[in-house]
Amino acid sequence: MPLFEIRDLVTAFHTTDGRVPAVDGVSLSIDRGRTLGLVGESGCGKSVTAMSILRLVAAPGRIETGSILLDSPAGPVDLVTLPDSDLRRVRGGRIGMIFQEPMTSLNPVFTVGDQIAEAVLLHRACSRGAARARALEMLRLVRLADPEQRLDEYPHQLSGGMRQRVMIAMALACEPDLVVADEPTTALDVTIQAQILDLLGDLRRRLGTAILLITHDLGVVAETCDEVAVMYAGRIVERAPADVLFARPLHPYTIGLLAARPDPDAAGRAPLRTIPGMVPAPQRFPVGCRFHPRCGHARAAATPEGPACEAPAPELLEVEPGHFVRCHYAERLGEPHPAAVEVRFA
Ligand code: SF4
Repeated sequence: MPLFEIRDLVTAFHTTDGRVPAVDGVSLSIDRGRTLGLVGESGCGKSVTAMSILRLVAAPGRIETGSILLDSPAGPVDLVTLPDSDLRRVRGGRIGMIFQEPMTSLNPVFTVGDQIAEAVLLHRACSRGAARARALEMLRLVRLADPEQRLDEYPHQLSGGMRQRVMIAMALACEPDLVVADEPTTALDVTIQAQILDLLGDLRRRLGTAILLITHDLGVVAETCDEVAVMYAGRIVERAPADVLFARPLHPYTIGLLAARPDPDAAGRAPLRTIPGMVPAPQRFPVGCRFHPRCGHARAAATPEGPACEAPAPELLEVEPGHFVRCHYAERLGEPHPAAVEVRFA
């Protein structure tokens, strides 16, 4: 059993316009000490997947079906059905979360030291003094400058990069088995972003923490992830080890995402490539393959090679060991894409 596994998760919002399935049958798994990147455009369901993991989806949203399994000494526990009191022990204990904007997660009226210590006290039987010592140790671990001084400062006294380090310190203070990091560097400038990603990689190696990294940035994924799952319109459309996905993307959406990455060498000389159209709103997901209105390879009618793209919906199938694709024509489209060979893989 992997450390963490999501099986057929469906999370939907029940609005006045009807049922909106933001996450529709997602399955993922992560082994101990590994990093899985969950990528896709805004609105594809990545963040709702992250919020579902710790049952943080607010009404009118709710998890309808599926299981979210966390391996434990007595066997896997299902976070979907876990009683609230047990789930509170998992949140911040065995699973830590890092959000894009730390100001929404840090309490402005408490010092950062008190907030980290409070997280420790919630999950460990220790004295206030020991929790404060742990907070200081964590601020050192995340390489915050002047950690003794920062301990007694409030979030507004820190820069965005410092606040993100504090969030990471808080998420890792109880040595979680898994960290869910939702766009942890998006709001930061490039230099700080690189430092934070380095830091997460370093902590993963030292503490053996598994990481679910949610991002729209394929460059970040190439640098940090062991495996990648690409999400589109509430579903996983491709999943593979990162080196395989970048060398041999098979789903037209993945190929489009790779081609749309900005090329710093061609800046100002070549137009940016884009994927035509937009991610459909969940209440208007197309029938059949949800990518077909944007796909340059879509077949309007059945061919000797496969069905029409509007029906039936393609399944997520394993086309080579560890490489899953949701496309009727994946294996026929699988020539390495020119964009793929340029990717530097860490
Ligand atoms: Fe494109 Fe058809 Fe494959 Fe969907 S099933 S990605 S429309 S080729």
